[in-house]
Amino acid sequence: MAEVYDVIIIGGGQSGLACAYYLRRTKLNYLILDEQENCGGAWQKTWDSLRLFSPADQSSLPGWLMPKNEDGFPPKDHVINYLCKYEERYDFPVKRPVKVENVEKESGVFKLKTSAGDFSAKTVISATGTWKAPFIPKVKGIDIFRGKQIHSAQYKNTDKLENKKVLIVGEGNSGAQILAEVSKVTNTSWATLKDPEYLPDDVDGRVLFNVATAKYKAEKEGKKFDPAAYNLGNILMVPTVKEARERGVLKTKGSFTEFTENGVIWEDGTKEDFDLIIWCTGFHYATDHLNNIVDTDANGKIITEGTRAKNTNGLWLVGYGGWTGYASATLIGVGRSARATIQEVSEYLKD
Ligand code: FAD
Repeated sequence: MAEVYDVIIIGGGQSGLACAYYLRRTKLNYLILDEQENCGGAWQKTWDSLRLFSPADQSSLPGWLMPKNEDGFPPKDHVINYLCKYEERYDFPVKRPVKVENVEKESGVFKLKTSAGDFSAKTVISATGTWKAPFIPKVKGIDIFRGKQIHSAQYKNTDKLENKKVLIVGEGNSGAQILAEVSKVTNTSWATLKDPEYLPDDVDGRVLFNVATAKYKAEKEGKKFDPAAYNLGNILMVPTVKEARERGVLKTKGSFTEFTENGVIWEDGTKEDFDLIIWCTGFHYATDHLNNIVDTDANGKIITEGTRAKNTNGLWLVGYGGWTGYASATLIGVGRSARATIQEVSEYLKD
């Protein structure tokens, strides 16, 4: 008979690894299934120039600090390298590439149907992130536009963008950073639903994490916290975005109401043509594989208490950000969530 694991973690990105770190300290028998060919989770997919907004010493998973890098905030390759070494260091049992197609539950045991056959487990931790679920709003006429459209999840670099007219959509950090980069090689416009809001220049990832930690502590102790100038969702003035401001390109044209065959119609009725639209409009949750055992909302969200699925015993969800755990979509934040989850899983399996 096939082995029934105590725990199977779906997803071998930073969240899956943080859970594995705490599982390794238990006697539980566990396995990680990850769809990617290589280690590093979604960091392998991001655009080439992406850097962490947090310094190395504030970007670590539990147990082992991310090594420092020489010039400022770590580039994505540094993060991928760290995640791969982390995996090796603790010798986690990871199978790749294995895509979990769907999960069923029979007689209290989870059956995972995967690209590499079936696996069984008493409990499942889903740590599949958001990268596989890019969100693009349904704007009127989107299907008649004949130009190219990509999501920030597919954007890599400015190769082949010279002489193209590019529309960047979205007022978040991705929108600002991609606009900063693309505007260096070609003609860009920026579409945003509201005016972009910027953090003060002297606020970097380090300050953000200090504020986030202070906020977390205050909330835990029932004290008041006034974040004042620090809205953690505002655009962080990383060097490339500062430089774009100096060039005068950080200017939004507001929002557009619909597409034409060649471009968009802005709110004031003027038309503008584009060759490429880059949607920097965020992500939903990559939870499709759980559709047989849980109800999800339009964003892929499941009803949870902390990280535990409320209506499905034995299922946890880790690393999806504010939904399942404070700052759990960050390297430094996911450890807290993973530790609490493994405590709950261990308790559950005792019964
Ligand atoms: P992922 O990294 O997406 O890993 C999930 C893994 O699960 C992937 O390998 C995926 O292939 C696999 N998977 C998915 N579905 C299945 C399936 N059905 N079967 C098997 N495997 C599956 N965080 C910071 O701490 N600092 C930063 O500076 C920072 N900057 C960021 C900048 C950007 C632009 C973005 C988008 C995010 C940033 N983050 C940052 C956030 C964070 O680090 C990422 O969101 C992180 O990748 C989340 O990790 P995860 O392990 O939850 O998900």
